[in-house]
Amino acid sequence: MKAAVYREHSEDPRQVVKIEDIDAPKPKSSEVLIEVEAASYNYNDLWGIWGKPIKIPMPHISGSDAAGTVVEIGENVTANIKIGDRVVAHPNLTCRVCYECTSGREYDCLNRKVWGFQTGPLWGGFGQYTHLPAVNVVKLRDNVSFNDAAAISMVGMTAWHMLVTRANIRLGQTVLIMGGGSGMGIAGIQIAKLFNCLVIATAGNKDKMDKCLQLGADFAVNHRESDWYKKVREITHKQGVDVIFEHIGKSTFPQELSLLKMGGTLVSTGATTGYDSTIDLRYLFFKGINLLGATQGTKAGLEEVIRWVSEGKIRPIIDTILPFSNMVEGHVKMAESQLFGKILTTPQKL
Ligand SMILES: [Zn+2]
Repeated sequence: MKAAVYREHSEDPRQVVKIEDIDAPKPKSSEVLIEVEAASYNYNDLWGIWGKPIKIPMPHISGSDAAGTVVEIGENVTANIKIGDRVVAHPNLTCRVCYECTSGREYDCLNRKVWGFQTGPLWGGFGQYTHLPAVNVVKLRDNVSFNDAAAISMVGMTAWHMLVTRANIRLGQTVLIMGGGSGMGIAGIQIAKLFNCLVIATAGNKDKMDKCLQLGADFAVNHRESDWYKKVREITHKQGVDVIFEHIGKSTFPQELSLLKMGGTLVSTGATTGYDSTIDLRYLFFKGINLLGATQGTKAGLEEVIRWVSEGKIRPIIDTILPFSNMVEGHVKMAESQLFGKILTTPQKL
């Protein structure tokens, strides 16, 4: 089979990521083999290629978002799954036996690995075939395309986990989606609208602000303007917001805290502009706010997201689809471009 392999690290993906002919994997007894039709890019693919901030198994195949068809099933698979099923990967590999996993908190499993990033050697979604534990695939209804499934899986699951599982979003709340034009934000806006929330989205330029409004946000604010948080406060008639969906980090975090209502909740899943932020502790104790962290999400959360995609209530947004022979351009585009939506590649289409 053909797969996008790198055998050394580099700052420039073009120098190291090559389409190679390698043996197709054999599924273990608890796994399924998937013919990959669509796979999408994430920043963790770049971290893998760069070899930082963490070490990963080498040689490496990246790709944590993949959708395709089950073509082989391991002998001990007991899940309700059969050859020919259309599936998407749930890329959160956990032990399923520890205290955290059996408490329903698989995202807190100490043995958790992000598939395609921390797994290997040669185990990720950017290949014509891949294998996954049967418990780590979600079936797709016929009206959910492989492209849509691969575009929404990681960001949709993570945004669902932040808003629904962690922040316990409720009908009609006021929700601030920071970075609404990012892959995460695109999913966050749509999930908050499922709950009929008033959604204020921020973005870094006018074009992305307009796109946030087209996705359903009620208001859009430019978070690069120094008084952005005052605009948010005005929109809420000085009441503040119930929930903040945060992944920008240092450049906006202190102002975000000032926007929470009494007892409001901020949930964070990243810190693109820096992690060494400050907290005015008066907000924490006087206002009784909740500061929550989140990473990835549960298989059940991914199932919910895929169901809403099937219902037409969550719309995956795709920026670019690249032929597999030119898949390395996707890594370059991730590093350099202002995207709106996901970049995909199609391993069966060279
Ligand atoms: Zn576990």
